[in-house]
Amino acid sequence: MSTQLPNQLTNPIVFDNRFVEELPSDPQADNYCRQVKGACYSRVQPTKVSKPQLVAYSRETADLLDLSEEFCRSFLFTEIFAGNNLLPGMDPFAMCYGGHQFGNWAGQLGDGRAINLGEILNKDNRRWMLQLKGAGPTPYSRQADGLAVLRSSIREFLCSEAMHHLGIPKTRALSIVTTGELVTRDMFYDGHPKDEPGAVVCRVAPSFLRFGNYEILTARGETALLQRLVDYTIRTDFPHLGEPSVPVYIAWFSEICRTTAAMILHWMRVGFVHGVMNTDNMSILGLTIDYGPYGWLEGYETQWTPNTTDAHRRRYCFSNQPHIGQWNLLQLANAIYPLVRQIEPLQEALSSYNSLFLSGWNDMMAAKLGLKSFEAATDDALIGELVEILQLVETDMTIFFRNLATISADTTPHKPEELSAALCQANYTPQEISDDYRHRLSDWLLALPFAHK
Ligand code: AMP
Ligand code: MG
Repeated sequence: MSTQLPNQLTNPIVFDNRFVEELPSDPQADNYCRQVKGACYSRVQPTKVSKPQLVAYSRETADLLDLSEEFCRSFLFTEIFAGNNLLPGMDPFAMCYGGHQFGNWAGQLGDGRAINLGEILNKDNRRWMLQLKGAGPTPYSRQADGLAVLRSSIREFLCSEAMHHLGIPKTRALSIVTTGELVTRDMFYDGHPKDEPGAVVCRVAPSFLRFGNYEILTARGETALLQRLVDYTIRTDFPHLGEPSVPVYIAWFSEICRTTAAMILHWMRVGFVHGVMNTDNMSILGLTIDYGPYGWLEGYETQWTPNTTDAHRRRYCFSNQPHIGQWNLLQLANAIYPLVRQIEPLQEALSSYNSLFLSGWNDMMAAKLGLKSFEAATDDALIGELVEILQLVETDMTIFFRNLATISADTTPHKPEELSAALCQANYTPQEISDDYRHRLSDWLLALPFAHK
């Protein structure tokens, strides 16, 4: 069904709600927590709020959706993206998914505080799902309230837009609206809950399908539905792979291995630590999704995690992200195995993740060092030595690489002390810099190919 909005305030908005039209829904219409079997989603209305106020919207994301400035500034926009109103053609629903959380199968999770409003087909025929986060409880809310606070909503809004400008595959954010209501949260998990302003973010992606959407169906032995969902995904989001068949399922999985490796490489490039790489937070499109406790490395500490609940095991720390990506892909391989029924091609794709990641890492590090291309004979040692140097004295990763970029071939001939001085500005504890360290850093710099041009 396609609907055009006959509203002067907007450009025509075309909804094409393929997910709900093609996949089976939960027959229960009431909004209470339950196990939802034999279905991919439950229809559910956002909860109305008392005093919605627009905090911000992203002009760039609005452009992707062909939403006019006038519409974005209207009260109708605020009402819709607070969950108080719907445009004709919207058909709200919450998805059913499961997931492995911190290495353990957690059963059904689902959109507990996310409600999808509908899929827009923009003027370039690109498909965008609109999803409210924090718009009230759904059948998947379990013990929680379905709400979000302004603090975490600002973090999500800013991070997803920043990630876009850092060139990283991610979901986008359209808007952030405060609800006029208070939400109680224990910010530091220390037994001191406080009331905070409630907010709703609208996020936007071609698809919000996660590894967990497939895992839950296999865990329940719902193989026919698994095949429907996989076929739907391939036809909708991977049409270049061709009509679904066993070889296409394998090609599909290989592509997810590639896009997941590419996404995590981008995270490593900028020092992004997701913090909760559970399989319910892994996008089937290789998009960064679900911005919770995420953070960026300051000092180059490979074991760093922003997630205080993971501080003990550090499963999701910076340096473990590539490995966890592969572990999560293994869970997805297990989930689609009933459709493929061959272990080797899935294993091959999983192993190719390692080689892809390694070559991607080398190319990415070479680019960060300003090298035209990666030459194993010289650059393996160069990169290895740098990673060691970065950990000798507490060094800000981003400042180090920014300052490195200011050193050019024109600065030659250099004195080692002058060369390393710019980089030492990235050290948090200059008093700890020894002569040995300075020499090691200068030797490393002088080994860079451009140093001899
Ligand atoms: P996360 O770790 O944020 O990805 O969330 C894991 C699961 O908990 C997902 O099923 C979420 O929908 C659900 N969840 C997280 N916070 C809430 C909340 N405030 N209300 C309802 N469900 C939530
Ligand atoms: Mg999540």
